[in-house]
Amino acid sequence: MKKISYKDYYEKDPKRYPFFRYHPDPIRSGIFVECAVPKVCQCCGKEETLICEGPFYSDAEVDCICPECIANGKAAKAFDMEYCEISSKNRIGDPEKEEELLHHSPGYYSYNGGSWLSHCNDYCIYEEELYAKHLQDRELMEELKNDPVWIEWELEDPEKVLLDRNFQIHLFSCSHCGKHLFYIDEFFD
Ligand SMILES: [Zn+2]
Ligand SMILES: [Zn+2]
Repeated sequence: MKKISYKDYYEKDPKRYPFFRYHPDPIRSGIFVECAVPKVCQCCGKEETLICEGPFYSDAEVDCICPECIANGKAAKAFDMEYCEISSKNRIGDPEKEEELLHHSPGYYSYNGGSWLSHCNDYCIYEEELYAKHLQDRELMEELKNDPVWIEWELEDPEKVLLDRNFQIHLFSCSHCGKHLFYIDEFFD
């Protein structure tokens, strides 16, 4: 059976399920949840079966927002909320792109509030969360091993370290050059 992706939603009803260019498949990444019983969006009050339960960086108690209220920025405004963090190293200094990422795009869960990554002067596409062993299956280990961050951390055999500890890895890709980028809580900032 084909797994449902967010594409199935926005192809049917792009107004209600808008496309998120920095996070194109929030169902696959587990950030949008399909509910058997509709839930009420805390922002617009509409009932919705595909909802986002976080992450929400806000002082308000927020736990259920519909895709439309994320995309149009209403939820971010209503709850003075951001959906992700960007470390100073990853900031690209483009207020429009930053606005789109922080206030109009679903985020991702990381133990210590991981930064969104950037490349080619744009924010990257969030693909999914996986574990080191999956990188081997998908032939991504070589790309990860060549990431300059290992030099910074002075690790001689990153593959061994990654596999031994089976790190949780957040996989990003650059929409301009196609390069994969990796965020690992323990090593990257
Ligand atoms: Zn809503
Ligand atoms: Zn790039």
